[in-house]
Amino acid sequence: MSKQVVVLASGNPGKLRELEQLLGPQGLSLRPQSHWDTPEADENASTFLENALIKARNAAAHTGHAAIADDSGLVVPALGGRPGIRSARFSAEGTDAANNQHLLSELAALPDASRAAYFYCAMVFVDHAGDPAPLVTSAAWHGEILTAPRGDNGFGYDPLFFVPEKNCASAELAPAVKNDISHRGRAVRALRDALRARTGRES
Ligand code: IMP
Repeated sequence: MSKQVVVLASGNPGKLRELEQLLGPQGLSLRPQSHWDTPEADENASTFLENALIKARNAAAHTGHAAIADDSGLVVPALGGRPGIRSARFSAEGTDAANNQHLLSELAALPDASRAAYFYCAMVFVDHAGDPAPLVTSAAWHGEILTAPRGDNGFGYDPLFFVPEKNCASAELAPAVKNDISHRGRAVRALRDALRARTGRES
């Protein structure tokens, strides 16, 4: 049986590889949206979930195929949920280093209890652009914001994200260990399980 083509609404080659490994056995053939010169979606909503849906629908509408999108970021309750959906552009400069510095300065004057934080990832699969019943999964990964960066792995806020269950920063974890426990890893595996339940296929 031929595989169903599914468009990934992202240009990130790491995400494509990771999803290909998990979803290939579900009978899906994943392609990046760049394959169809898909224009970027306008992520103008206020939640990760809505923005993931906007991206998935945009990719499906442009390509005529099913589509998968994710949206993720760091949530600090003491900062009213910021950086949240603006995680990639928290500082004016928008680099990982500048975003991390900005986060440290926002937290500097607050008590230690304010450093609780979590990464959140929403994942969406739509069969077509007008799919009224998308598959939706999400996961949160709880930790604390350190007072200085630690470790060289990962990206984004990983050097500032302390992982209590491993007693180190996320940027000090081997990639496979991070994938096992992270917001994105768990949301992707939940999507795989939802797709498996939907199609009845076994990996
Ligand atoms: P994206 O939706 O995966 O592109 O993530 C948006 C932004 O959230 C990234 O640019 C990072 O700043 C932050 N972020 C999301 N996931 C992670 C993670 O696993 N580690 C560190 N930062 C993350």
